[in-house]
Amino acid sequence: MGNRVTDSELLGIGFTSRRTRERLVRRLADAGISDQRVLAAIAETPRHIFVDEALAHRAYEDTALPIGHGQTISQPYVVARMTEALIADGIPDSVLEIGTGCGYQAAILARLVPRVYSVERIRPLLERARERLRRLKLTNVQLKHADGSFGWPEKGPFEGILAAAAPRSVPEGLLEQLAVDGRLVIPVGEGDVQDLVLIRRTTGGFERENLARVRFVPLVSGTLR
Ligand code: SAH
Repeated sequence: MGNRVTDSELLGIGFTSRRTRERLVRRLADAGISDQRVLAAIAETPRHIFVDEALAHRAYEDTALPIGHGQTISQPYVVARMTEALIADGIPDSVLEIGTGCGYQAAILARLVPRVYSVERIRPLLERARERLRRLKLTNVQLKHADGSFGWPEKGPFEGILAAAAPRSVPEGLLEQLAVDGRLVIPVGEGDVQDLVLIRRTTGGFERENLARVRFVPLVSGTLR
């Protein structure tokens, strides 16, 4: 059927239905996610269309899943936790995401934030994400094929920045593109497990707080066609 998508595919049936999604939302609430705006965005967003059909039956488990090219779709709990931290002081006008991957986190942000910008270094992942966001009619997301270590200077400053890949230390460019009173949520560190860090920009500088221990893929420099 080419790219044609039926309503039933988007709405989901059986293991991909809205009811299955609501079960995931209850699990996230039990795990400590309390922001109703975030839980509603997750309830409204079909996660099964962001993974291969063969993995669709696992899309509403609270787990990361492979999306090809050695990358993963983030665990729903982590998506929720990061989104919650990003909007805790109020809804940012614009958010930059580093590491679009399959586009799921971007879709969640698009339901909460007026303008979302997302960059991805692996071209085929970016193009597939673009198609999915189009299918969901999330027109407030702009995507770019680029090395996100440098942010997206032309579109900044951003009131929120969220990184889905872990650098060893916070890239200078991201700090520069963070608006005053803005929030940057980013996993930082070497190795398999990193610190999830929240950085707030103040008029005087930056405040840093560790939120959790997380497991992200590394931020890699350069781009892939
Ligand atoms: N946001 C995704 C998670 C994607 S995993 C989700 O919703 O599930 C992290 C992504 O970051 C991968 O696709 C990887 O290719 C990308 N990435 C790693 N280093 C990057 C860089 N320097 N610039 C842009 N994207 C990068």
